[in-house]
Amino acid sequence: MNSMKKTELLGMNMLELEEFAVKMGQPRFRGRQLHRWIYVKDCCSFYEMSDIPRELRQQLDAVARISIPRVLKQRVSADGTRKFLMEMNDKKRVETVLIPQSSNLNGHYTLCVSSQVGCPFRCAFCATGQGVFQRNLAACEIVGQLLGSRRELKRRLKNPQDPLISNVVFMGMGEPLLNFAQVIKAIQIMNDPRGIKLGQRHITISTCGEANGILRLAETDLQVTLAISLHAADDRLRDELVPINKKYPLKTLMAAVNTYIEKTGRRVTFEYIMLDGVNISRKDAENLVKLIKPFLANVNLIPYNEVDGLPYNRPAPNQVKQFYDWLVALGLNVTIREEHGSDIKAACGQLAVKPV
Ligand code: SAH
Repeated sequence: MNSMKKTELLGMNMLELEEFAVKMGQPRFRGRQLHRWIYVKDCCSFYEMSDIPRELRQQLDAVARISIPRVLKQRVSADGTRKFLMEMNDKKRVETVLIPQSSNLNGHYTLCVSSQVGCPFRCAFCATGQGVFQRNLAACEIVGQLLGSRRELKRRLKNPQDPLISNVVFMGMGEPLLNFAQVIKAIQIMNDPRGIKLGQRHITISTCGEANGILRLAETDLQVTLAISLHAADDRLRDELVPINKKYPLKTLMAAVNTYIEKTGRRVTFEYIMLDGVNISRKDAENLVKLIKPFLANVNLIPYNEVDGLPYNRPAPNQVKQFYDWLVALGLNVTIREEHGSDIKAACGQLAVKPV
């Protein structure tokens, strides 16, 4: 083992930072100071930590590091959405998307984070799934996407009033429930009221149907929102679109969702991308209603964002409306997802980076 390896402080919670301080022969409150510098100030340089004695800053710099991912590229959409290409310590790259919730650029933002480099599930319509799966992200790399984006935003907007990331959705690259422990750890850190202060209900985990992970999530006492990428309401079609359906067919998936709802008392959201001529017929609407009406869930329709090289098309607006109307008439709670950032390929399912 490399004895010179520095300890990574990003990804440590308050208790771990206090223990780290004690191990360095310091009082516990030094750990609390580090916590504030990292998670409130987005600071990654010990030399900027003005309430820590100079000598200790030097010592810290010799043994520890705070690896907020580097923003290699940033694209800004006409609607204010920003897509960041972030680089990790081992040079692996992921994309992170920051979406304004209103036209006021100093208002609130939703951050769409990646949980893996690439994705092992090869959903037929998704850009990420066309690439190679490389590895899980560590908690520090997930939280780091938030700190890195927030720091970048503060710099760019140059506004004395800090912009606020008020929601985080695990809808970037990867399947969060396949990286369970690190995703949960990242959520716990984001949730700490002494740091990032993100309410659990403002955090959404989206899964393409990793039923085992849904059951595990039900066992935690987290109050996060669960979204299921359903996209088809019969097994034949879902096998084709979302291959994990072969492992966990709809019956198994819905049983897991049911357990989740019973255990947590929380509503879930079903996401349904709309593919022209594939999954938006009257019969598809009826199947969908039959399948999810008992759950009192919300359905979020996502008109497909076209991906180069894939054979699927976005339906025309009148077809989107027609499918929406059928679902509403049949008694579902439906919303159509507002599209953000498609002009910079930052919309749902458009995230892809070349493997390094
Ligand atoms: N693996 C998780 C997290 C990714 S979330 C999941 O599947 O839920 C990304 C969301 O965008 C999912 O609902 C996904 O199915 C959807 N999506 C993927 N490709 C898309 C595309 N080209 N257009 C619109 N939505 C897409």
